[in-house]
Amino acid sequence: MEFNHINFDTYFKHYPDENGYFGKYGGSYISADLQKAMDEITEAYFTICKSGKFISELRRIRKEFQGRPTPVSHLERLSNSLGNVQLYVKREDLNHTGAHKLNHCMGAALLAKYMGKKKVIAETGAGQHGVALATAAAYFGLECDIYMGSVDIKKQAPNVARMKILGANVVEVTHGLATLKEAVDAAFEAYAREYKDAIYCIGSVLGPHPFPMMVRDFQSVVGIEAREQFVGMTGELPDAIVACVGGGSNAAGFFSGFLNDPVDIYGVEPLGRGPKLGDHAASLKYGTEGIMHGFNSIMLKDENGDPAPVYSVASGLDYPSSGPEHAFLRDCGRVKYDVVNDDDTIDAFFALSRMEGIIPAIESAHAVAYGIQLAKQLKKGSVLINLSGRGDKDMDYIIEHYGIR
Ligand SMILES: *Cc1c(COP(=O)(O)O)cnc(C)c1O
Repeated sequence: MEFNHINFDTYFKHYPDENGYFGKYGGSYISADLQKAMDEITEAYFTICKSGKFISELRRIRKEFQGRPTPVSHLERLSNSLGNVQLYVKREDLNHTGAHKLNHCMGAALLAKYMGKKKVIAETGAGQHGVALATAAAYFGLECDIYMGSVDIKKQAPNVARMKILGANVVEVTHGLATLKEAVDAAFEAYAREYKDAIYCIGSVLGPHPFPMMVRDFQSVVGIEAREQFVGMTGELPDAIVACVGGGSNAAGFFSGFLNDPVDIYGVEPLGRGPKLGDHAASLKYGTEGIMHGFNSIMLKDENGDPAPVYSVASGLDYPSSGPEHAFLRDCGRVKYDVVNDDDTIDAFFALSRMEGIIPAIESAHAVAYGIQLAKQLKKGSVLINLSGRGDKDMDYIIEHYGIR
């Protein structure tokens, strides 16, 4: 299948290229020390991802530890309440730890083990990536240092407790605004010092090459399973698929299974309180090209050209850029990126809970809200939504801000 001269039959052979570029996006913009460490990871990944032993061990872990394959569920009552379009969800909420993030953390930690590393290092904002990586580290018996801003440590007490119970070392970052950006910088600095014994595990399809590729590849299990399951259930492909986009890992993995199919693909960014800079985190809709955190992509910038402050009701989506592959898929027109605001997201959160008995993560509720909009517009056909995670982590926030509806 072709889109604007991009041949999707051979897409994965050419994207990214050997320097980590998806068209003009991606690459690696880091210090020489860190580049040496990245080259080592790239080489190990290319060797290991073709090794039968690595592949079969990862397959076994997914089945016996993570509980994969996660099912696809038909949302019968919600669909009937909207009209004739049938909505389905891929249930990453049922993946161990309650979200898709463990898919790439288990892959990265297995890679660390094969490379003979003793430690995994990462940053975390809301704590979801930290918990997933701490889980993987406990499974493999690796040390785990999670860098986290002191502001986030206070806000995310339950996730900090989870990481500690899992045996991770939570390193408090106190400088600057003491949130995610400072935590990323501190984690990169630590990695530059410790790369002989440690590997860095990023939380999404972000950062310098090879991370956007590697994280997509580990997450592609979601798209591969979902396609096979959907065809098995209905005898055909969905007309459209939808996923939320923060950094873009659940979307990248889910979309990868359908890029070469006649299926409309939608990525949903958080519009938050509205289109004013600072009120949303819709980088692909409102951002411009720029380099941050070691890669070139589309980002939201302030008046100085630095990463702008962002906001979303879903803390997992408030990042001022998106993975380079999404910027590329946007430009070539294969994926349409659109936005959903906080209010529609919360309506969808309650609709899915009440009508289907599934409490989604607020991040995932963005995709559900968009699926509901599509169902109203399309009149017939089917829409498959990636439900990236469950909402247990969001209970306190929902009760405090929205009450029980
Ligand atoms: C972290 C998170 C996201 C956003 O991350 P992506 O890399 O864009 O997938 C989405 N949903 C859930 C449940 C998350 O925990």
